[in-house]
Amino acid sequence: MENIRIDRDASGPNETLGARMARRGVSRRSFLKFASYMVSVMALPPSMAPAMAEGLQKARRQSVIWLSFQECTGCSESITRAHGTTIEDLIFDFISLDSFDVLQVASGVAAEEARKTAMRDNYGDYILVVEGSVSTRDGGIYSTVGGRTNMDSLAEAVEGAKAVVAVGTCATFGGLPMANPNPTGAVGVDTLVTDKPVINIPGCPPVPEAMIGTLVYILSFGELPALDSRNRPLAFFGETIHDRCYRRPFYEAGKFAKSFDDEGARKGWCLYELGCKGPVAHNTCATLKWNGGISFPIQSGHGCFGCASPGFWDQGGFYKPLSASTTEPGLPEAAALAVGAAVGAGAALSARERIAKVEAETLTTEALKARAKAEDSK
Ligand code: SF4
Ligand code: SF4
Repeated sequence: MENIRIDRDASGPNETLGARMARRGVSRRSFLKFASYMVSVMALPPSMAPAMAEGLQKARRQSVIWLSFQECTGCSESITRAHGTTIEDLIFDFISLDSFDVLQVASGVAAEEARKTAMRDNYGDYILVVEGSVSTRDGGIYSTVGGRTNMDSLAEAVEGAKAVVAVGTCATFGGLPMANPNPTGAVGVDTLVTDKPVINIPGCPPVPEAMIGTLVYILSFGELPALDSRNRPLAFFGETIHDRCYRRPFYEAGKFAKSFDDEGARKGWCLYELGCKGPVAHNTCATLKWNGGISFPIQSGHGCFGCASPGFWDQGGFYKPLSASTTEPGLPEAAALAVGAAVGAGAALSARERIAKVEAETLTTEALKARAKAEDSK
């Protein structure tokens, strides 16, 4: 927490980041080093690092207003745990975190006033970050801050924002608050915000570098990063966990752990049959990992929950495999292992077909919205 600084630039809002950082003793070389790290995190060509460094140097500190709705604060916690020795310092020099309920000193009426002032002073130019889903049932009365519904606060803050970044699966797809039976009529931000660009960075919580990388990209290039059909940055959500999983060779070879303490688990075999949702989960955990790149769930011996997917909580159980057993019925274990490689290709193929079926059955955001609407009209 001591790395977080919520300060206003004493030398004025027009000072460029390059000038500001020079004043603080940060060299151009450090800028380049940071930009090189960010382009590698975002899987951009290394040749883009100088352009990113230059863009950052010419940019002004970006005003960011962070709203918290129906959430657990895990996403805020995650962004404060970004790794890299200088990232926290740099990112909190690059942005002006003008309102952030979880971290700011002000509270109560003073906090409300601080946000209003920041919105007025930076009207049309701030980035609005939203954490948590929005309650819509019964006029949104199930989640209020300062006596106002989240719906009202969102509408007010969106008006002066140049872009909205929804962080976490709650803010993007409704998340846990939207789980059956969704008593508050929770929806993701883009259900309500249709007149401003919305970037979705799902995850429960999201990988911190996905949040920071997205903000840095906007700041450097003055435009949104490339997004997929669900408005997720392709750099972080373009591939599935399965695409980058180091256990993939075992999957292809048909070697699957059957329990968390069997020989296969000890040998690090694929966790598909223990419920791993990696094949249908779009996220960057297998590449960037967590806690300074130390590990991620699969590396720790647990399958992927698919926490960045819409409706992940209601998909039938974390430990339920995406498909039936990949071992041929009646085939003894030893024989199954002996022919593992041969069976593997077939198992993987049939698994892929079943994954496609699961994907087709996965509740889409539209289906979730329709369900919330239908429940609302009851
Ligand atoms: Fe918490 Fe997960 Fe929702 Fe973030 S997405 S607020 S970590 S429940
Ligand atoms: Fe990795 Fe899970 Fe895919 Fe197995 S099913 S290779 S553990 S992502």
